[in-house]
Amino acid sequence: MQAVVKPIAAPGFVLADVPEPVPGDGELLLRVAAASVCGTDVHLYDWNPWAAARVQPPRVIGHELCGEVVGRGPGADMEDGRRVAVESHIVCGHCNSCRRGDFHVCLNTRILGVDVDGGFTSLVVVPQANVFAIHDDTTSEVAAALEPVGNAVHACSYGDLSGRTVAVFGCGPIGCAAIAVARAQGAASVIAIDRNRFRLHLAERMGATRVVMADENVERGVREAVAGADIDCALEMSGAPSAVVAATRLVRPGGWISLLGIGDEPTTLDLSNDVVMKGISLHGVVGRRLPQTWEATMEYVRTGAIDVAALITHRYAMSEIEAVIELIKSGQCGKVSLHPG
Ligand code: ZN
Ligand code: ZN
Repeated sequence: MQAVVKPIAAPGFVLADVPEPVPGDGELLLRVAAASVCGTDVHLYDWNPWAAARVQPPRVIGHELCGEVVGRGPGADMEDGRRVAVESHIVCGHCNSCRRGDFHVCLNTRILGVDVDGGFTSLVVVPQANVFAIHDDTTSEVAAALEPVGNAVHACSYGDLSGRTVAVFGCGPIGCAAIAVARAQGAASVIAIDRNRFRLHLAERMGATRVVMADENVERGVREAVAGADIDCALEMSGAPSAVVAATRLVRPGGWISLLGIGDEPTTLDLSNDVVMKGISLHGVVGRRLPQTWEATMEYVRTGAIDVAALITHRYAMSEIEAVIELIKSGQCGKVSLHPG
């Protein structure tokens, strides 16, 4: 079968013929119905320092996917034909984090398409513990995007957003999903901040009440946008040090910030004045709480409280992966959906 593969420890992907995987203990064989492309895949393509330190090629890429069950190994019992969304973090179940129920910070996490072969191909093997059966009304491309939408749901879960004023820094697919989740939770106003006009338009479509261009006057721009109201919560999805600093300065005393964006460099903050003396809470957000975040995410989708399809702006065949990487680097897209072939 054809797959998108990182063949050697260097930039680039290739389309290669790889053997069909065989499910082991507790594992399912899925026929991939749809996948989607993530910033992590761009890092893998570019072979940045994180990728070079972590990935051992050859590796089949792809961690956001929806598949149909077509086989199983010993100990797995989900029947053929079920359509499932896939949690990309494979956790060990026995480390101290897992024993506490904090599976999202498992000390032995293996990531699909990073540490084990992934889903930019036609057949993939995943632990049955990593799949979530989806509703018949949920399309496969929406189901594939539930993994990053879950990041947004997780980021919004550290406080009550009902009636609140929320600032979202970084309007890529996860930031835009967070805007929709905040509105679904009843946020009174959601200010979207980005450097990219395409993304600010998408942010408006997803429910942002105001958008602010992230330039050197971003703090002033956000203050004007909220017209004197307190900013109760900031969701930092960009990883840009300037955005993290702006978030800590803008959030009201006693407010909270979810930090999900990952920067290339350490960030310098005025911790004493902007965090300690203001009594604000910072939450590092990684992955999804298992299974709570998935349950919440699927409920938002099932009830129509958030419109994940609106996040998907482009569709490509897997064989066109080079064009997709270029498109994502241009910033002129939301979520890009991939189809086998
Ligand atoms: Zn991802
Ligand atoms: Zn663990």
